[in-house]
Amino acid sequence: MNIHEYQAKQWLARFGVPVPQGRVAATAEEARAAAREIGFPCVVKAQIHAGGRGKAGGVKVVHNDDEAAAFAEDILGKPLVTHQTGPEGRIVRRVWVEEASRIARELYCSIVLDAAAGGPAIIACREGGMEIEEVARETPDAIIIEVVDPLVGVQPFQIRRVAAGLGLSGKELSAFGVLVRSLYDAFLKSDCMQLEINPLAQLDDGRLLVLDAKMNFDGNALFRQTDVAELRDITEEDPKEVRASDLGISYVALDGNIGCMVNGAGLAMGTMDIIQQYGGMPANFLDVGGGASKEMVGQAFRLLLSDDKVRGVLVNIFGGIMRCDVIAAGVIDAAREIGVSVPLVVRLQGTNVEQGRELLSKSDLSIIPADTIADAAQKIVEAVRAQEGDA
Ligand code: ADP
Ligand code: MG
Repeated sequence: MNIHEYQAKQWLARFGVPVPQGRVAATAEEARAAAREIGFPCVVKAQIHAGGRGKAGGVKVVHNDDEAAAFAEDILGKPLVTHQTGPEGRIVRRVWVEEASRIARELYCSIVLDAAAGGPAIIACREGGMEIEEVARETPDAIIIEVVDPLVGVQPFQIRRVAAGLGLSGKELSAFGVLVRSLYDAFLKSDCMQLEINPLAQLDDGRLLVLDAKMNFDGNALFRQTDVAELRDITEEDPKEVRASDLGISYVALDGNIGCMVNGAGLAMGTMDIIQQYGGMPANFLDVGGGASKEMVGQAFRLLLSDDKVRGVLVNIFGGIMRCDVIAAGVIDAAREIGVSVPLVVRLQGTNVEQGRELLSKSDLSIIPADTIADAAQKIVEAVRAQEGDA
């Protein structure tokens, strides 16, 4: 789960992380009042769940309240397109107004859960700021990575190593040490997956200040992070993903055009892989779960078809706990009710597979049956292609 920059800053402040003074505003007049309170110059920043705002015109230094209100008026209620949002952009619903800092250097510092290393990794770079992606691409050696052993926490030698890489010494090194410890504390105690500070600004007077913060939390830990869960902004999430989570279905929207309905996360991943192997692109990951009911199958089906990118559907179900005839009935009901205008390939295997196949073949729907996963993947990719060829 992601949160906004202003929420991340307020959250981090609780852990003693140094952040600028700021106010959130939802209208131009609120932005004017916030700017007056903060004083000038101040910075007005679009709040969306995406980075790259600076380059896209979503961050502006303003020198008086008219300028603050005018800029807020300009961006509020409209989509902001950045290199991270996709072409449709994200609607700006709030701005964050904060004191402007006199920046000497912009550093990069993040903590991410590194699955391969088995612990949180501190990632840092002396060339932070808006060009960080280019730096990572062109001079990967400039990126410092320090994996923390979760049992012992951040060690002083690790802080010295990262600080040296960032060119910090003396008083700055101690300040950096305190900062990293509070970031790590926030990371651990809030069940974060990612905590990214870019830029971590070194000011004219040597102080370190967090000027941008991105936090991502482990969705599976939200049951025990109720304060974090309250920061959720569902207007920033894919409506299909929100509906799926309400229904208890694991669903992740993707960029392709083949909708997949599968039971079991492993089989779902395998299905996506094999679709790609045959030259297709999955529109989603969808796991209806091992013991899903007929209703659940129907809901999942509706969810798939509500995505207008979907040009074909592949149902790949292994009937273990769930019986194939129940799945077949669910698919038939849903398909009848919604009306499926795209090719539909169904591959069933497992308990009551014969009854399930019979139901499908007897139905008046044009379902393309498949025996193996490979067969199913090949058939849906071909069917989608043939249809695009016709169009
Ligand atoms: P994004 O990463 O989405 O582009 P940032 O919050 O990092 O947005 O802002 C972009 C740039 O704007 C920063 O790299 C920094 O140079 C400048 N900036 C952001 N906040 C401030 C601030 N409070 N004072 C001065 N400059 C700022
Ligand atoms: Mg940034």
